[in-house]
Amino acid sequence: MGKAKTHVVRHETVELLKSLVRINSVNPSLVEGAPGEAEIAEFVADYMRSIGLETRVEEIEKGRLNAVGVLKGAGGGPALMLNGHLDTVGIEYMEIDPLDPVVKDGRLYGRGSNDMKGGLAAILAAAKALVDSGVELKGDLVVAGVCDEEYASIGTERLMDEVTVDAAVVGEPTGLRVVVAHKGFAWIDVETRGVAAHGSKPDVGVDAIAKMGKVLVGIERLQDDVLRSKRHGLVGSPSIHASTIQGGRELSTYPDHCKLQVERRMIPGEEPEDVDAEMKSLIASISAEDPKFEGSHRITFIRGPMEVSPKEEISQILYRSTVDVTGSAPQFVGEGGWLDTEIIWRRGTPAVAFGPRGAGSHSAVEFVELDSVVEAAKILELAAVRFCGTESPS
Ligand SMILES: [Zn+2]
Repeated sequence: MGKAKTHVVRHETVELLKSLVRINSVNPSLVEGAPGEAEIAEFVADYMRSIGLETRVEEIEKGRLNAVGVLKGAGGGPALMLNGHLDTVGIEYMEIDPLDPVVKDGRLYGRGSNDMKGGLAAILAAAKALVDSGVELKGDLVVAGVCDEEYASIGTERLMDEVTVDAAVVGEPTGLRVVVAHKGFAWIDVETRGVAAHGSKPDVGVDAIAKMGKVLVGIERLQDDVLRSKRHGLVGSPSIHASTIQGGRELSTYPDHCKLQVERRMIPGEEPEDVDAEMKSLIASISAEDPKFEGSHRITFIRGPMEVSPKEEISQILYRSTVDVTGSAPQFVGEGGWLDTEIIWRRGTPAVAFGPRGAGSHSAVEFVELDSVVEAAKILELAAVRFCGTESPS
Protein backbone atom coordinates (compact mmCIF):
# COMPACT_ATOMS: atom_id res chain seq x y z
CA MET A 1 0.00 0.00 0.00
CA GLY A 2 1.01 3.60 -0.49
CA LYS A 3 1.63 5.94 2.38
CA ALA A 4 -0.79 8.75 1.61
CA LYS A 5 -2.58 10.13 4.61
CA THR A 6 -6.33 10.27 4.12
CA HIS A 7 -9.37 10.75 6.33
CA VAL A 8 -11.68 8.12 4.86
CA VAL A 9 -13.20 5.86 7.53
CA ARG A 10 -13.73 2.34 6.24
CA HIS A 11 -16.66 1.17 8.34
CA GLU A 12 -18.57 4.41 7.74
CA THR A 13 -18.06 4.04 4.02
CA VAL A 14 -19.29 0.44 4.07
CA GLU A 15 -22.38 1.38 6.13
CA LEU A 16 -23.12 4.22 3.73
CA LEU A 17 -22.92 1.85 0.77
CA LYS A 18 -25.26 -0.61 2.48
CA SER A 19 -27.79 2.16 3.06
CA LEU A 20 -27.61 3.14 -0.61
CA VAL A 21 -28.14 -0.44 -1.80
CA ARG A 22 -31.15 -0.85 0.52
CA ILE A 23 -32.97 1.98 -1.26
CA ASN A 24 -34.74 0.76 -4.38
CA SER A 25 -33.83 3.25 -7.11
CA VAL A 26 -34.74 1.30 -10.22
CA ASN A 27 -35.16 3.61 -13.19
CA PRO A 28 -38.88 3.89 -14.05
CA SER A 29 -38.09 4.59 -17.70
CA LEU A 30 -36.67 1.06 -17.84
CA VAL A 31 -39.14 -0.72 -15.57
CA GLU A 32 -42.69 0.60 -15.47
CA GLY A 33 -43.81 1.56 -11.98
CA ALA A 34 -40.30 1.45 -10.50
CA PRO A 35 -39.65 4.03 -7.76
CA GLY A 36 -36.98 6.17 -9.43
CA GLU A 37 -34.62 8.46 -7.55
CA ALA A 38 -36.88 10.40 -5.13
CA GLU A 39 -35.96 8.46 -1.99
CA ILE A 40 -32.29 7.98 -2.74
CA ALA A 41 -31.84 11.63 -3.76
CA GLU A 42 -33.30 12.76 -0.43
CA PHE A 43 -31.04 10.30 1.39
CA VAL A 44 -27.95 11.55 -0.43
CA ALA A 45 -28.98 15.18 0.11
CA ASP A 46 -29.46 14.55 3.85
CA TYR A 47 -26.01 12.98 3.97
CA MET A 48 -24.43 15.93 2.18
CA ARG A 49 -26.21 18.42 4.46
CA SER A 50 -25.10 16.47 7.52
CA ILE A 51 -21.44 16.86 6.54
CA GLY A 52 -21.89 20.56 5.84
CA LEU A 53 -22.23 20.85 2.05
CA GLU A 54 -24.46 23.52 0.51
CA THR A 55 -27.09 21.13 -0.75
CA ARG A 56 -30.07 21.24 -3.05
CA VAL A 57 -32.43 18.66 -4.46
CA GLU A 58 -33.85 19.28 -7.87
CA GLU A 59 -36.76 17.54 -9.53
CA ILE A 60 -35.96 17.12 -13.21
CA GLU A 61 -39.17 15.27 -13.99
CA LYS A 62 -41.79 13.90 -11.64
CA GLY A 63 -40.03 11.55 -9.21
CA ARG A 64 -36.71 12.03 -11.01
CA LEU A 65 -34.33 13.96 -8.76
CA ASN A 66 -30.75 15.18 -8.67
CA ALA A 67 -29.03 15.82 -5.34
CA VAL A 68 -26.23 18.36 -5.59
CA GLY A 69 -23.90 19.47 -2.81
CA VAL A 70 -21.11 22.02 -2.93
CA LEU A 71 -18.14 22.20 -0.61
CA LYS A 72 -17.33 25.87 -1.10
CA GLY A 73 -13.72 26.70 -1.72
CA ALA A 74 -11.97 29.79 -0.39
CA GLY A 75 -11.63 31.09 -3.93
CA GLY A 76 -8.87 31.28 -6.49
CA GLY A 77 -8.78 27.58 -7.40
CA PRO A 78 -10.35 25.37 -10.06
CA ALA A 79 -13.64 23.58 -9.37
CA LEU A 80 -14.00 19.81 -9.53
CA MET A 81 -17.17 17.76 -9.85
CA LEU A 82 -17.58 14.22 -8.56
CA ASN A 83 -20.60 12.72 -10.33
CA GLY A 84 -22.49 9.49 -9.65
CA HIS A 85 -25.81 8.24 -10.92
CA LEU A 86 -28.49 7.34 -8.39
CA ASP A 87 -30.56 4.99 -10.55
CA THR A 88 -30.13 1.29 -11.22
CA VAL A 89 -31.47 -1.16 -13.76
CA GLY A 90 -34.24 -3.64 -12.84
CA ILE A 91 -34.13 -6.29 -10.13
CA GLU A 92 -36.80 -8.88 -10.88
CA TYR A 93 -34.40 -11.46 -12.32
CA MET A 94 -31.78 -11.29 -9.57
CA GLU A 95 -30.67 -14.43 -7.77
CA ILE A 96 -30.25 -13.10 -4.25
CA ASP A 97 -32.28 -10.34 -2.57
CA PRO A 98 -31.14 -7.33 -4.58
CA LEU A 99 -32.00 -4.82 -1.85
CA ASP A 100 -30.45 -6.65 1.10
CA PRO A 101 -26.72 -5.99 0.91
CA VAL A 102 -24.74 -9.07 1.94
CA VAL A 103 -20.99 -8.96 2.55
CA LYS A 104 -19.04 -12.10 1.79
CA ASP A 105 -15.30 -12.54 1.17
CA GLY A 106 -14.74 -8.81 0.92
CA ARG A 107 -17.51 -8.32 -1.62
CA LEU A 108 -20.78 -6.52 -1.11
CA TYR A 109 -23.65 -8.00 -3.14
CA GLY A 110 -26.82 -6.28 -4.28
CA ARG A 111 -28.36 -4.35 -7.16
CA GLY A 112 -26.35 -1.25 -7.90
CA SER A 113 -23.45 -2.30 -5.66
CA ASN A 114 -21.17 -2.12 -8.69
CA ASP A 115 -23.19 0.14 -11.01
CA MET A 116 -22.77 2.43 -9.26
CA LYS A 117 -23.63 2.79 -5.60
CA GLY A 118 -20.09 1.65 -4.73
CA GLY A 119 -18.73 4.64 -6.65
CA LEU A 120 -21.40 6.90 -5.18
CA ALA A 121 -20.43 5.83 -1.66
CA ALA A 122 -16.77 6.49 -2.52
CA ILE A 123 -17.63 10.01 -3.76
CA LEU A 124 -19.65 10.84 -0.65
CA ALA A 125 -17.00 9.34 1.64
CA ALA A 126 -14.33 11.42 -0.11
CA ALA A 127 -16.37 14.59 0.49
CA LYS A 128 -16.81 13.70 4.15
CA ALA A 129 -13.09 12.97 4.49
CA LEU A 130 -12.28 16.40 3.07
CA VAL A 131 -14.58 18.05 5.58
CA ASP A 132 -13.18 15.97 8.45
CA SER A 133 -9.61 16.78 7.45
CA GLY A 134 -10.26 20.47 7.99
CA VAL A 135 -8.40 21.30 4.79
CA GLU A 136 -9.58 24.46 3.07
CA LEU A 137 -9.87 23.99 -0.67
CA LYS A 138 -9.39 26.97 -2.98
CA GLY A 139 -11.78 25.79 -5.68
CA ASP A 140 -15.29 24.40 -5.14
CA LEU A 141 -15.94 20.69 -4.93
CA VAL A 142 -19.31 19.82 -6.48
CA VAL A 143 -20.80 16.47 -5.49
CA ALA A 144 -23.63 15.40 -7.79
CA GLY A 145 -25.97 12.43 -7.44
CA VAL A 146 -27.83 12.36 -10.74
CA CYS A 147 -30.92 10.60 -12.03
CA ASP A 148 -31.60 8.57 -15.14
CA GLU A 149 -28.11 7.61 -16.32
CA GLU A 150 -29.40 4.15 -17.22
CA TYR A 151 -31.90 5.57 -19.70
CA ALA A 152 -31.63 9.08 -21.14
CA SER A 153 -29.32 10.86 -18.66
CA ILE A 154 -31.74 13.70 -18.01
CA GLY A 155 -29.96 14.25 -14.67
CA THR A 156 -26.49 15.06 -15.97
CA GLU A 157 -27.94 16.93 -18.97
CA ARG A 158 -29.77 19.31 -16.60
CA LEU A 159 -26.86 19.51 -14.18
CA MET A 160 -24.56 20.75 -16.92
CA ASP A 161 -26.99 23.58 -17.71
CA GLU A 162 -26.47 24.85 -14.19
CA VAL A 163 -23.03 23.89 -13.00
CA THR A 164 -19.69 25.11 -14.31
CA VAL A 165 -16.62 23.19 -13.22
CA ASP A 166 -13.10 22.80 -14.55
CA ALA A 167 -13.05 18.99 -14.57
CA ALA A 168 -15.20 16.06 -13.56
CA VAL A 169 -14.81 12.51 -12.37
CA VAL A 170 -17.73 10.14 -12.97
CA GLY A 171 -17.48 7.39 -10.36
CA GLU A 172 -18.49 4.42 -12.52
CA PRO A 173 -16.85 1.06 -11.69
CA THR A 174 -13.57 1.14 -13.59
CA GLY A 175 -11.51 -1.15 -11.37
CA LEU A 176 -9.44 1.84 -10.21
CA ARG A 177 -8.38 2.49 -13.79
CA VAL A 178 -8.78 5.88 -15.42
CA VAL A 179 -11.23 5.73 -18.33
CA VAL A 180 -10.19 8.47 -20.76
CA ALA A 181 -12.15 7.32 -23.83
CA HIS A 182 -15.33 5.51 -24.66
CA LYS A 183 -17.51 4.63 -27.62
CA GLY A 184 -20.70 6.36 -28.66
CA PHE A 185 -23.73 4.85 -30.34
CA ALA A 186 -26.43 5.67 -32.84
CA TRP A 187 -29.82 4.01 -33.26
CA ILE A 188 -31.00 4.04 -36.82
CA ASP A 189 -34.36 3.12 -38.36
CA VAL A 190 -34.23 1.83 -41.93
CA GLU A 191 -37.43 1.45 -43.91
CA THR A 192 -38.04 -0.21 -47.25
CA ARG A 193 -41.22 0.21 -49.21
CA GLY A 194 -42.68 -2.34 -51.59
CA VAL A 195 -45.96 -2.81 -53.39
CA ALA A 196 -48.67 -4.93 -51.79
CA ALA A 197 -50.18 -7.46 -54.17
CA HIS A 198 -51.81 -10.87 -54.22
CA GLY A 199 -49.22 -13.56 -53.70
CA SER A 200 -49.89 -14.93 -57.18
CA LYS A 201 -48.92 -11.65 -58.91
CA PRO A 202 -45.12 -11.36 -58.93
CA ASP A 203 -45.26 -8.89 -61.80
CA VAL A 204 -47.22 -6.45 -59.59
CA GLY A 205 -45.93 -7.09 -56.06
CA VAL A 206 -42.66 -5.67 -54.77
CA ASP A 207 -41.35 -7.49 -51.70
CA ALA A 208 -40.21 -4.93 -49.13
CA ILE A 209 -38.74 -7.65 -46.91
CA ALA A 210 -36.55 -9.04 -49.69
CA LYS A 211 -35.43 -5.46 -50.45
CA MET A 212 -34.45 -5.13 -46.80
CA GLY A 213 -32.34 -8.23 -47.32
CA LYS A 214 -30.11 -6.10 -49.52
CA VAL A 215 -29.74 -3.59 -46.71
CA LEU A 216 -28.81 -6.41 -44.31
CA VAL A 217 -26.18 -7.69 -46.72
CA GLY A 218 -24.87 -4.13 -47.04
CA ILE A 219 -24.68 -3.75 -43.25
CA GLU A 220 -22.76 -6.99 -42.92
CA ARG A 221 -20.37 -5.89 -45.65
CA LEU A 222 -19.90 -2.49 -43.99
CA GLN A 223 -19.09 -4.26 -40.74
CA ASP A 224 -16.68 -6.81 -42.25
CA ASP A 225 -15.00 -4.75 -44.96
CA VAL A 226 -14.88 -1.25 -43.51
CA LEU A 227 -15.54 -0.91 -39.79
CA ARG A 228 -13.57 -3.92 -38.65
CA SER A 229 -10.38 -2.45 -40.08
CA LYS A 230 -10.80 0.93 -38.36
CA ARG A 231 -9.25 1.04 -34.93
CA HIS A 232 -8.88 3.33 -31.95
CA GLY A 233 -6.00 2.55 -29.61
CA LEU A 234 -8.11 2.41 -26.44
CA VAL A 235 -11.64 1.44 -27.46
CA GLY A 236 -11.05 -0.80 -30.49
CA SER A 237 -13.17 -0.89 -33.63
CA PRO A 238 -16.49 0.70 -34.50
CA SER A 239 -19.32 -1.67 -35.39
CA ILE A 240 -22.81 -1.98 -36.82
CA HIS A 241 -25.45 -4.67 -36.35
CA ALA A 242 -29.13 -5.27 -36.94
CA SER A 243 -31.26 -5.23 -33.79
CA THR A 244 -34.93 -5.75 -34.71
CA ILE A 245 -36.88 -6.27 -37.91
CA GLN A 246 -40.59 -6.05 -38.71
CA GLY A 247 -42.48 -6.49 -41.94
CA GLY A 248 -45.29 -8.21 -43.75
CA ARG A 249 -49.04 -8.38 -43.23
CA GLU A 250 -50.17 -11.89 -44.08
CA LEU A 251 -48.92 -15.03 -45.78
CA SER A 252 -50.54 -14.54 -49.16
CA THR A 253 -49.60 -10.91 -49.73
CA TYR A 254 -46.47 -9.20 -50.97
CA PRO A 255 -45.20 -7.06 -48.06
CA ASP A 256 -45.37 -3.33 -48.80
CA HIS A 257 -43.25 -2.29 -45.84
CA CYS A 258 -40.33 -3.44 -43.74
CA LYS A 259 -38.61 -1.70 -40.85
CA LEU A 260 -35.18 -2.53 -39.52
CA GLN A 261 -33.60 -1.10 -36.39
CA VAL A 262 -29.84 -0.87 -36.45
CA GLU A 263 -27.25 0.03 -33.87
CA ARG A 264 -23.95 1.65 -34.82
CA ARG A 265 -21.21 1.94 -32.20
CA MET A 266 -18.84 4.84 -32.82
CA ILE A 267 -15.20 5.36 -31.85
CA PRO A 268 -13.62 8.71 -30.92
CA GLY A 269 -13.15 10.74 -34.07
CA GLU A 270 -16.40 9.55 -35.69
CA GLU A 271 -19.12 12.19 -35.91
CA PRO A 272 -22.91 11.86 -36.29
CA GLU A 273 -22.56 13.24 -39.83
CA ASP A 274 -20.22 10.35 -40.71
CA VAL A 275 -22.79 7.78 -39.59
CA ASP A 276 -25.53 9.54 -41.53
CA ALA A 277 -23.41 9.73 -44.69
CA GLU A 278 -22.47 6.06 -44.40
CA MET A 279 -26.13 4.95 -44.32
CA LYS A 280 -27.00 7.33 -47.15
CA SER A 281 -24.31 5.86 -49.34
CA LEU A 282 -25.30 2.29 -48.47
CA ILE A 283 -28.90 2.97 -49.53
CA ALA A 284 -27.84 4.92 -52.61
CA SER A 285 -25.64 2.08 -53.81
CA ILE A 286 -28.54 -0.40 -53.54
CA SER A 287 -30.86 2.02 -55.38
CA ALA A 288 -28.32 2.41 -58.15
CA GLU A 289 -28.34 -1.34 -58.82
CA ASP A 290 -32.03 -2.03 -58.22
CA PRO A 291 -34.55 0.41 -59.71
CA LYS A 292 -37.37 -1.19 -57.69
CA PHE A 293 -35.59 -0.56 -54.40
CA GLU A 294 -37.14 2.19 -52.33
CA GLY A 295 -35.62 2.79 -48.91
CA SER A 296 -34.66 5.46 -46.42
CA HIS A 297 -33.04 5.80 -43.03
CA ARG A 298 -33.33 8.02 -39.99
CA ILE A 299 -31.09 8.36 -36.93
CA THR A 300 -33.48 8.19 -33.98
CA PHE A 301 -31.02 8.58 -31.08
CA ILE A 302 -27.34 9.31 -30.90
CA ARG A 303 -24.75 9.64 -28.15
CA GLY A 304 -21.28 10.53 -29.27
CA PRO A 305 -17.95 8.96 -28.34
CA MET A 306 -15.50 10.89 -26.17
CA GLU A 307 -11.81 11.09 -25.47
CA VAL A 308 -9.65 13.14 -23.15
CA SER A 309 -5.88 13.07 -22.98
CA PRO A 310 -4.10 11.06 -20.29
CA LYS A 311 -2.00 14.22 -20.01
CA GLU A 312 -5.06 16.25 -18.97
CA GLU A 313 -4.60 17.54 -15.43
CA ILE A 314 -7.43 15.51 -13.89
CA SER A 315 -6.07 12.33 -15.55
CA GLN A 316 -2.61 12.99 -14.16
CA ILE A 317 -3.87 13.85 -10.69
CA LEU A 318 -5.91 10.62 -10.52
CA TYR A 319 -2.85 8.72 -11.67
CA ARG A 320 -0.62 10.19 -8.93
CA SER A 321 -3.30 9.86 -6.26
CA THR A 322 -3.86 6.19 -7.14
CA VAL A 323 -0.13 5.51 -6.91
CA ASP A 324 -0.04 7.25 -3.53
CA VAL A 325 -2.98 5.29 -2.11
CA THR A 326 -2.53 1.83 -3.63
CA GLY A 327 1.21 1.77 -4.36
CA SER A 328 0.62 0.81 -7.98
CA ALA A 329 0.12 2.80 -11.15
CA PRO A 330 -3.34 2.78 -12.72
CA GLN A 331 -3.85 2.20 -16.43
CA PHE A 332 -5.44 4.71 -18.76
CA VAL A 333 -8.11 2.73 -20.59
CA GLY A 334 -11.07 2.97 -22.93
CA GLU A 335 -14.58 1.60 -22.43
CA GLY A 336 -16.98 0.09 -24.90
CA GLY A 337 -20.12 1.43 -23.26
CA TRP A 338 -21.31 5.03 -23.27
CA LEU A 339 -21.05 7.02 -20.05
CA ASP A 340 -22.28 10.35 -18.65
CA THR A 341 -18.70 11.60 -19.06
CA GLU A 342 -19.58 12.36 -22.69
CA ILE A 343 -22.28 14.88 -21.72
CA ILE A 344 -19.83 16.74 -19.50
CA TRP A 345 -16.98 16.51 -22.04
CA ARG A 346 -19.21 17.72 -24.91
CA ARG A 347 -19.82 20.93 -22.95
CA GLY A 348 -16.10 21.59 -22.83
CA THR A 349 -15.21 20.17 -19.42
CA PRO A 350 -12.57 17.44 -19.21
CA ALA A 351 -14.26 14.36 -17.73
CA VAL A 352 -12.95 10.91 -16.92
CA ALA A 353 -14.51 7.88 -15.28
CA PHE A 354 -12.88 6.40 -12.21
CA GLY A 355 -14.27 4.14 -9.51
CA PRO A 356 -14.17 0.82 -7.68
CA ARG A 357 -13.77 -2.75 -8.84
CA GLY A 358 -16.66 -5.19 -9.12
CA ALA A 359 -18.74 -7.19 -11.55
CA GLY A 360 -22.25 -8.09 -12.58
CA SER A 361 -23.59 -4.71 -13.67
CA HIS A 362 -27.08 -5.28 -15.17
CA SER A 363 -26.71 -9.02 -14.35
CA ALA A 364 -28.34 -11.52 -12.03
CA VAL A 365 -25.47 -11.40 -9.50
CA GLU A 366 -23.82 -8.03 -8.87
CA PHE A 367 -21.10 -7.14 -6.39
CA VAL A 368 -18.42 -4.59 -5.61
CA GLU A 369 -15.13 -5.23 -3.82
CA LEU A 370 -15.19 -3.25 -0.58
CA ASP A 371 -11.43 -2.64 -0.46
CA SER A 372 -11.68 -0.93 -3.82
CA VAL A 373 -14.57 1.29 -2.66
CA VAL A 374 -12.48 2.51 0.26
CA GLU A 375 -9.43 2.96 -1.97
CA ALA A 376 -11.49 4.89 -4.51
CA ALA A 377 -12.72 7.20 -1.73
CA LYS A 378 -9.15 7.84 -0.55
CA ILE A 379 -7.94 8.48 -4.09
CA LEU A 380 -10.79 10.93 -4.75
CA GLU A 381 -10.06 12.73 -1.48
CA LEU A 382 -6.42 13.24 -2.49
CA ALA A 383 -7.36 14.11 -6.07
CA ALA A 384 -9.79 16.82 -4.94
CA VAL A 385 -7.15 18.44 -2.73
CA ARG A 386 -4.67 18.38 -5.59
CA PHE A 387 -7.08 19.61 -8.24
CA CYS A 388 -8.90 22.32 -6.28
CA GLY A 389 -5.74 23.46 -4.48
CA THR A 390 -5.25 24.38 -0.85
CA GLU A 391 -3.29 26.86 1.21
CA SER A 392 -1.86 24.15 3.38
CA PRO A 393 -0.94 21.05 1.38
CA SER A 394 -2.05 17.88 3.17
ZN1 LIG B 1 -23.44 3.10 -14.34
